[in-house]
Amino acid sequence: MTRRQFNIAVLPGDGIGPEVTSQAVRLLQEIEPHLNDVTLQLTQHSAGVGEYLSSGDALPDFVFEACRTSDAILLGAMGLPSVRYPDGREIVPQIDLRERLDLYGGVRPIRLYHENDTPLKDSSAGDIDFVLVRESTEGLFSRRNALPAADASQVCDTMTITRDGAERVCRLAFQIARTRRRRVTLVDKANVLSSMVFFRRVFDSVAEEFPDCEAGHVYVDAAALFLVRDPRRFDVLVTENMFGDILSDLAAGLIGGLGMAPSADIGDRTAVFQPVHGSAPDIAGQGIANPIAMILSTAMMLEWLPHEETKRAGQALRDAVVQVLSDPAKRTADMGGTLTTTQMTDAVSEALKRTIGG
Ligand code: NAD
Repeated sequence: MTRRQFNIAVLPGDGIGPEVTSQAVRLLQEIEPHLNDVTLQLTQHSAGVGEYLSSGDALPDFVFEACRTSDAILLGAMGLPSVRYPDGREIVPQIDLRERLDLYGGVRPIRLYHENDTPLKDSSAGDIDFVLVRESTEGLFSRRNALPAADASQVCDTMTITRDGAERVCRLAFQIARTRRRRVTLVDKANVLSSMVFFRRVFDSVAEEFPDCEAGHVYVDAAALFLVRDPRRFDVLVTENMFGDILSDLAAGLIGGLGMAPSADIGDRTAVFQPVHGSAPDIAGQGIANPIAMILSTAMMLEWLPHEETKRAGQALRDAVVQVLSDPAKRTADMGGTLTTTQMTDAVSEALKRTIGG
C-alpha cells in the first residue's frame, strides 16, 4: 500500500517563533517513525519581519504559493513592534495569509491542565474547558488596510458581517460542539450594532440545522464578565473577529497565559496552526519561551489532518502534554517555573514515548 503524504509548510517567523517552532518540528520528527501509512513532508519557509528586512516582501509569492498548495501550515509567530512599514503599520503576514487563504474559522481551545495555573480560585484541572471560535476574515478587521489620509479629520473602521461569512463560522462552531458538550453561545453586541443583529439572525437560522445542540447568546461585555466569574458555563463560543481577538487573550489568562493557548485558523481547503501568542520580543533569544501553545497547536494539526494515524498521533501528543502538566514543578518561567524551552520539550518527548506506544 502507498503511504499517504501530507505536505506541511513550516513558517517559524520572528522573535520566539523559531524557538518554539523548532521544538514542534523535533516532536513531529519523533512521531514520524510511529506512522505506518503516513509521511509528513515538512518544508520550512521564510516569512515575516526577517524576510521583509532581507527581501522587502514579508510574504513572497512563492512562499504564499507553497502555503496555498500545502495540506497544512505550521506557524510560529510573526511581527516585531520595532519594525514597521513606512506608513507606520506593523508587518503582519499571518493576517494576510488568513485572509488570502480564506481561513475563516479561528479555533481557540482553552483548557485548564492544573489548578495552580489559573488565577481563579476553586478551579481544578478540566474545569475550564471551552472553545472560542473567532471569525477571522471579516468583522471589524475588514477594512484594516484602508489607511486614513494624513490630514483626515475623521476615520471609520467598518464592521462587515456577510451572510456567507457568518453562516460558515457558525456552522463550524456547531460542528465542533457536536464533538463536545453540544452547547454553542454567540457572543455579540446585538443590543447596539445592526451588524450584530444581523449576525444573531444568521446564527439563529444555522442553529436550526443543529437541533441536537443548545444555542444561546451573550453580549460581549457580559461575556468578558462571565469568562472571569464562571467560565464553566461555556462549551463553544462563536464571535466576530475583533471580539474574538480580545476574548481569546482573556481566555488564555484563565489557563496560565499566552504560552498555553493553541489555535487553528481553518478554511475549507487548508489551515494554519499557530500559538495564540506573538513573537514576544521581550524574551526572544533567551531560550525560555513556553513551547506548550506551539506543541498543542501541532497536536491540533495532526488531529485535523484526514487520516486515522495522524489523529491518533495528535491525541498521543496531547496526552503527553497532559501528563507533563499534571506535575506543577514542570513549568517555564512565564508560569513561575524554571524549565527552559528545550527542557519543557524534553519532558513532553519523554511522555510521548509512553503515550504513542509501539
Ligand atoms: P506577545 O504574545 O508576543 O507577548 C505578550 C506577553 O506574553 C509578553 O510579555 C511575552 O513575553 C509573553 N509571552 C507570549 N508568548 C509567550 C511564550 N510562549 N512563553 C512565554 N511568554 C510568552 O504579544 P505582543 O507583545 O503584543 O506582540 C509582539 C509582536 O507579536 C507584535 O509585533 C505583534 O504584532 C506580534 N503578534 C503576532 C501574532 C502572530 O504571529 N499570530 C499574534 C500576536 C502578536
